[in-house]
Amino acid sequence: MDARGLLRRYIEQRRELGETELVLDTLKVEEVMRLLGAAGRRAAAVEPRRSVRELVGEPSEDWRASLRDAGVNVDAPIPEPNSDLAATHAERTDEMAFKQGIVVAPAEAELLPSAIEKLDSVEAIAKAVKRCTRCSLYETATNPVPGEGSTKSGLVCVGEAPGAKEDETGRPFVGQAGQLLTKILAAIDLTREQVFICNVLKHRPPGNRNPRPEEVEACSPYLIRQLELIKPKVIVAFGTFAAQTLLNTKAPIGQLRGLVHQYHGIPLVVTYHPAALLRNPAWKRPTWEDVKLARRILDSSPRS
Ligand code: URA
Repeated sequence: MDARGLLRRYIEQRRELGETELVLDTLKVEEVMRLLGAAGRRAAAVEPRRSVRELVGEPSEDWRASLRDAGVNVDAPIPEPNSDLAATHAERTDEMAFKQGIVVAPAEAELLPSAIEKLDSVEAIAKAVKRCTRCSLYETATNPVPGEGSTKSGLVCVGEAPGAKEDETGRPFVGQAGQLLTKILAAIDLTREQVFICNVLKHRPPGNRNPRPEEVEACSPYLIRQLELIKPKVIVAFGTFAAQTLLNTKAPIGQLRGLVHQYHGIPLVVTYHPAALLRNPAWKRPTWEDVKLARRILDSSPRS
């Protein structure tokens, strides 16, 4: 992308985040100066000032537009599973197409606590989470956040833990990061209602502190049972915590992205957490690549 495109994308992203001040960290000074019509330092001093709008034109409203500006073909149709293109995708579901990552398989001894194993629906899990005392987080949380959405779409989004807004409402990903998640899903033609959204932890850690290992251990059986019942075609782990927890690894997210891992037999794709994207909009593009990969897996799985 040229300097003008970069500047435009940058400003759109900052505006989307409600920021009014700019730090032009991905642009080279000389490129911006050239963009401003300045030949060099001295010329820049006499160049009449132009408004941001004059420089970047009318900002576009959605994330797809900035990707489009970046040269990404977001308008290419997502193939139907029975089209020729989809057949190509299906053929590519083998090792040749997707770089295989970590395989997390259930160990012989890894049995779910029997009370959780007996829960026979996602609704039953939600009820059990409501009265859960397996760790101490229920003492400080306002509401449990078991997860919500369709159990049929084939795609499950897994985040870290509820934040303040989620704790207040009992619903996952409804704060600022959640709004970005909704846009990320829209970029692959999915709505929130079409997927299942949940977290590793079902109660909010006080003050959004990092989840503790004993809390993860206590809560994970609910997530495992949810996945057993939903049987998604693909899981998207949003953020380092969800990825490292599900894949039982300490590898950094940069190493986990771009691979198709297997979680209890279900393909799992790792991407950045929407909250991280709010801090670093440059990760939006790789995130889009990741969710596109998830979409390809979804489309190439046989319909059930
Ligand atoms: N962050 C998460 O990981 N999950 C939520 O539900 C909200 C923010």
